[in-house]
Amino acid sequence: MGISVSPIAGLDPAINDLRMRAARLVNGAILPYEDELWRAPREAEISDDERARRRRASRARREEIRAAVAEAGLWAPHLPTEYGGAGLDFLSLAYLYEILAYAVGGPTLFGIAAPNSGNASVLAKYGTEEQKRKWLVPLVAGELESGFSMTEPEHAGSDPRSITTEAVRDGDHWVINGHKWFTSNGVDADFFIVMCRAVDPSGDHGPSGRMAQFIVPADTPGVNIVRGIGVFASPTSDHCEIRYEDVRVPLENLLGRVGEGHQAAQDRLGAGRVYHCMNAVGQMWRAFDLMVERAVVREVHGGLLKDKQFVQGFIADSYLDLQSARLMTIDAADKVAAGNPQARTAISAIKVFVPNAFHRVVDRAIQVWGGAGVSNDLPLAQMYLSARVLRLADGPDEVHRILIAKNVVHHYESGGTWDFGA
Ligand SMILES: Cc1cc2nc3c(=O)[nH]c(=O)nc-3n(C[C@H](O)[C@H](O)[C@H](O)COP(=O)(O)OP(=O)(O)OC[C@H]3O[C@@H](n4cnc5c(N)ncnc54)[C@H](O)[C@@H]3O)c2cc1C
Repeated sequence: MGISVSPIAGLDPAINDLRMRAARLVNGAILPYEDELWRAPREAEISDDERARRRRASRARREEIRAAVAEAGLWAPHLPTEYGGAGLDFLSLAYLYEILAYAVGGPTLFGIAAPNSGNASVLAKYGTEEQKRKWLVPLVAGELESGFSMTEPEHAGSDPRSITTEAVRDGDHWVINGHKWFTSNGVDADFFIVMCRAVDPSGDHGPSGRMAQFIVPADTPGVNIVRGIGVFASPTSDHCEIRYEDVRVPLENLLGRVGEGHQAAQDRLGAGRVYHCMNAVGQMWRAFDLMVERAVVREVHGGLLKDKQFVQGFIADSYLDLQSARLMTIDAADKVAAGNPQARTAISAIKVFVPNAFHRVVDRAIQVWGGAGVSNDLPLAQMYLSARVLRLADGPDEVHRILIAKNVVHHYESGGTWDFGA
């Protein structure tokens, strides 16, 4: 059936127009081809020749869709226009992403998938002109893939200042040594943005001022991909464990300045968290539609599912979850766009609420579909895994709950009360 979208009163007409264009593309040019795009090439029982043929067909279809997306002005809407994006502010993005993420693989087709989208934002903000030309422009054009390598097996990812991967300056190079894991897109990445502690023998960096990010081409000697970590019982994935062993990159591969690495990562993660939530809302919307579409036609024990009170409860609770998640995300995006000091609390709030709500909605949709719900015939099983991962990635629930409480308490201790209307 597809996503139902109508103009929103009070929203900038240009954004309403983009929303309508996006919905037409999703419903007309993507949803009818989801199988061909994502599922058919992966089916296990087909011959190698048939798999290769389906992969070619899928690639051709993706290119066709991307051309239509670019033509509609919807490619990488979060990036400035000079780098091939649409230059939209955060609030507009919140209204748009919920549509772009509705179809399976939507974020990839619209150039808003992590980690490329976050890396592109960091390159746009911190990159030199040369770095932008060499890495950002082809990344946005879809000619390059990238990964973001921060988390380490030996140290808490929840506490990024604890990382120990070191970059030591040696003449006109930096030499990187460290052990990372869960670097997403690691199999396909052409380059990684690697978070390190910089050691410049000629510099004067305090222990907390040495965080730095480096652009590391994936084919640099010493970039050793140990494995794609198996997740959720699947034997492998594109979330990679990587050893960086005496990896030499030229000085110009330092992204931003030494000492800016932590801030750059927080910028990236702050924006990335909102993008993740916007995308989750789109997928939740799809799961909700799938659930209700099934409930109105499936007969069990002499009646339709929609008439059973248990299922009515699923529908009502999912409506509450979806609309709450959606409005909280729009509110957080509005605060980010306005530079509101409450934005950090709002981001942590959606980073806790949205993945959990997403998880609940998909779980109910699976239940309504019965066995088919966990099959690969529907996107629900994959969504379920995405929702669970999102409760960890970019900061686990507990860390964000603590942040919310700290920010709120600080306000009261400073003599104020919390202004929910701000
Ligand atoms: C599928 C997937 C993709 C990922 N992609 C990337 C990527 O592309 N790049 C990258 O760098 N990283 C990536 N990550 C890593 C992710 O960001 C980390 O897993 C996450 O930040 C948590 O770090 P950790 O795994 O080291 O857990 P830890 O930091 O060891 O935390 C473990 C648990 O401790 C609890 N906890 C933590 N702090 C507190 C606290 N203060 N109080 C109470 N409880 C607490 C939480 O429940 C947390 O889940 C990915 C992870 C997954 C699962």
